[in-house]
Amino acid sequence: MKLSEIDKIDLNELKSRPEWSDWKWQLRNRIRTAEELERWIKLTDSERQAIEATKAYFRWQITPYYASLMDPEDASCPVRRQVVPQMDEMEDDFDILSLDPLEELAHSPVKNLVHNYNDRVAFCVAAECAVYCRYCLRKRMVGDGEYAMNKSELQEGIDYIAAHPEIRDVLLTGGDPMILNDSNLEWILSRLRAIPHVELIRIGSRFPVLNPFRFTPEFCEMIGKYHPIWVNTHYNHAKELTPEAAAACDRITRAGAPLGNQTVLLKGINNDAETLKDLFKGLVKMRVRPYYLYQAQLIGGTKHFRTTIEEGMQLMQQLRGRISGFAIPSYVLDTPHGKVPLTPNGYQSREGDYVEVKAYGGETWREFNPE
Ligand SMILES: *Cc1c(COP(=O)(O)O)cnc(C)c1O
Ligand code: SF4
Repeated sequence: MKLSEIDKIDLNELKSRPEWSDWKWQLRNRIRTAEELERWIKLTDSERQAIEATKAYFRWQITPYYASLMDPEDASCPVRRQVVPQMDEMEDDFDILSLDPLEELAHSPVKNLVHNYNDRVAFCVAAECAVYCRYCLRKRMVGDGEYAMNKSELQEGIDYIAAHPEIRDVLLTGGDPMILNDSNLEWILSRLRAIPHVELIRIGSRFPVLNPFRFTPEFCEMIGKYHPIWVNTHYNHAKELTPEAAAACDRITRAGAPLGNQTVLLKGINNDAETLKDLFKGLVKMRVRPYYLYQAQLIGGTKHFRTTIEEGMQLMQQLRGRISGFAIPSYVLDTPHGKVPLTPNGYQSREGDYVEVKAYGGETWREFNPE
């Protein structure tokens, strides 16, 4: 079905059609123009202007599924703000395309493979994503054909991993690895699994959020052959925790892959304690463990999304003791030297044989702890 046909049918009816839950249909029918987006939401003048103005800097496209989660009337909708261009993006005065805040290029011994920690690598096996998130840290590469990987480049990455016995954990990322079809993914997984020192394989993907239909029973059965595989996804707001998303996460966990979640702390989207609590409580209900809360990186076109680190620490303090411990992720800052935890410390001071700690409610406790 083409977009011109979508135009003619009722959107609620569209959602009940079988093609709606076909992940390839969702990708083929991604929204790329203001006109198409207006079938789903009422664009503001400023959004319409931003779609034109940001074109030269960063691509945009949205799956119909993700568009269907947007509030059609409210431009401050957290789903909408993540993917619809805003004029704020144009206010930064530096060239976004040259930015590489984590110095990933300097840490890449072969194309798209970041070897920063000794025992693990991030392997960007695809440069495409289902959607372009406006705050993306990898703007320099997502959607850029120059970073796409052909078989021989993938093989080079695999050969590098095979030649480095210290690598025991391989994180497949991108872009989004789930943009690849099952046979290409299996090609990669089977080759990695054949390397004896690779203990863990992780798949980092935003498809459970943007196109949950990607996790078909066939895919889930396939990954079962290559365990241990962990899947890490990227929900930023409870509005994204739909029945379709829950069903995808259920299939993944039933296939034996533990699910973790990374959230980016984003101003105007999730920078308040109640929003984060709802998100993290909702995730654990779906058996997804909140893993990291990332401090947003200051890269071009994202200034309006950034909160201060102090604000982030205060938010973390408001979670501790108020929701299940395992619903609380680690708040981290990613740096060229690895991830640095920013969680406020309960440890206060030592006095003689006692250590003073501060509980979540502000009470002080003196713990007998001789030197
Ligand atoms: C985040 C990251 C990893 C994985 O780090 P964990 O803390 O183990 O999740 C590995 N390599 C790179 C380059 C990373 O940025
Ligand atoms: S899915 Fe991840 S890599 Fe892709 S655009 Fe969004 S944040 Fe960037």
